[in-house]
Amino acid sequence: MKTKNILVVGGAGYIGSHTVKMLAASGYQPIVVDSLVSGYKEAVAKYPFYQIDMHDTQKIGEVLQKHEIEAVVHFAAFIEVGESQIDPQKYYENNVMGTLSLLKAMRQNQVDKIVFSSTAATYGEPVYTPIDEKHPTLPINTYGKTKLVVEGILADYARSYGLNYIALRYFNASGADFAADIGESHKPETHLVPIILQSVLGLRSFKVFGDDYKTKDGTCVRDYIHVLDLASAHIKALEKFAGNKQVAESINLGNQKGYSILEVIKMVEKVTGKKVVYELAARRPGDPAVLIASSEKAKKFLGWSPQYDLQDIMASAWKWHQRKPYGFNST
Ligand code: UDP
Repeated sequence: MKTKNILVVGGAGYIGSHTVKMLAASGYQPIVVDSLVSGYKEAVAKYPFYQIDMHDTQKIGEVLQKHEIEAVVHFAAFIEVGESQIDPQKYYENNVMGTLSLLKAMRQNQVDKIVFSSTAATYGEPVYTPIDEKHPTLPINTYGKTKLVVEGILADYARSYGLNYIALRYFNASGADFAADIGESHKPETHLVPIILQSVLGLRSFKVFGDDYKTKDGTCVRDYIHVLDLASAHIKALEKFAGNKQVAESINLGNQKGYSILEVIKMVEKVTGKKVVYELAARRPGDPAVLIASSEKAKKFLGWSPQYDLQDIMASAWKWHQRKPYGFNST
């Protein structure tokens, strides 16, 4: 059978680069497009690469044509919740308008399949847990709103133009490839796992944001999901497009298991053999107390279930951060 060429937009980012590597290992040919505004070319050095902004419909169209692209996997987005509250225009322009341009290029070139990176932030404050896909979607920040708007656009395009899409709503992506050649890297880093590990390496201080939540120990509870489990879900999603039936779905990706920040700290101490030093700080605005996914739909619809637990997440992230303390950044 002919190798399927998959366009990975935002493929030089954290989840994108892990998915690119797994696509190649699974017999697909990934073609990477990234603006490099927040991605790292080093993360995808082995694959065909184009530095293109997704707003550039014409250039994206040329790549779709040239490589006879079968489907698009779309990761490109700004992802900082705090920043999205300060500068919503930046988020709507990039996450929504950029996606519209990408979809236009796809329509013009008869590419009708897309896997889209969505988020647990589309749900807002949970009214029940675990959160299934029928849970109300009332995002409490602009980042979550931009992702939900795009899901709405995808649904409209599915209805009117026959687009096939799967929107994957990630919970807390974490961990790294076990070879530690790629891993989590953001600038600035705001995510819990890299921040704790950098603190263990003596590179920064670490604050726990709030210990007065209504949870088992007062700290926030999150559903941490290994980035390789996320990557494998994208491959399962692409496989769903193989049949004749139109596909238009939103699906959670999580472990259906919640850990408090203090439990994460304990796991870091177990894996690294080092003591985690932290200060207690005020709550971070916009943080719900508990976010836990129901992964029933992912199991049923995609035939996907996560392979890795919190210990695997931490062991792989620790290996990566020991090798590259600041990820692909120099500080
Ligand atoms: N967190 C923290 N200190 C930090 C960074 C994060 O206590 O320096 C907490 C944060 O408030 C949340 C959890 O860790 O409860 C996970 O945060 P992260 O930013 O990694 O992911 P999010 O839940 O925002 O997707």
